[in-house]
Amino acid sequence: MIDSLATQLSLFDAPNAATSLTVRHSLRARRLAVRVYPGGRAEVVVPPRTSGRVVREFVLRHREWIETRRARAQRERPPAAAFPPPMIELAAFAERWELRIVPGPGRTRLVQIAASPEGPHTLEARGHGATTGLPRLLQAWVRARAAAQLAPWLETLAREAGFSYGRMTVRRQRTRWGSCSTRGTISLNACLAFQRPAVVRYLLLHELAHTRHMNHSTRFWRLVAEHEPHWRELDRELATGWRHVPAWMLNDGT
Ligand SMILES: [Zn+2]
Repeated sequence: MIDSLATQLSLFDAPNAATSLTVRHSLRARRLAVRVYPGGRAEVVVPPRTSGRVVREFVLRHREWIETRRARAQRERPPAAAFPPPMIELAAFAERWELRIVPGPGRTRLVQIAASPEGPHTLEARGHGATTGLPRLLQAWVRARAAAQLAPWLETLAREAGFSYGRMTVRRQRTRWGSCSTRGTISLNACLAFQRPAVVRYLLLHELAHTRHMNHSTRFWRLVAEHEPHWRELDRELATGWRHVPAWMLNDGT
């Protein structure tokens, strides 16, 4: 039933989820309804005892509305699962990179083409079968970008706030945003690149404060507060910061 109805409803050529129209039968629905989700997926909710013809007419009647809403949804937020992403936004560094796939000879590689400060810059994935292995390349690229930007930032903050540390590393991690070893090595998560600058600054101060207190004692938090009075809000924001990280950044595999 669902399949046949869905086939009838292939009014929109649907090469991917973002442009498809799904039909959901609901026992609780009172009347036909259509929703467009962030990213552009559209769903028709069908109450019990509704004929395929009625559904089809309903969709045709609302087709223009669906397309308008869908276009808006896609402009506002690309689908989370979209890969390759059309744009990579490194919020921490106020950088936007437009990703362009440029098929050509040779192994897939990334080439940065920096624009004016207002950007967006261009990141080209060039090569033979340009999207193969692209997630890994992008992950490494974000990590390198984060390392290049976070190193001087951490250095400046440490100098201004009067902290000293050993060295800094940037890794792609899934569980923590940063850490500080007893030797004073500060490890930072590459995914910080997708957080707001104020949140990143807080995390850097947090790790720097660990060079004095290797715990989360009252004295530690007092020290953090001296340099960042809004640490509580920023810490809370960082805890939910994963939602700003694109899925391709966290995935393993190809
Ligand atoms: Zn800590």
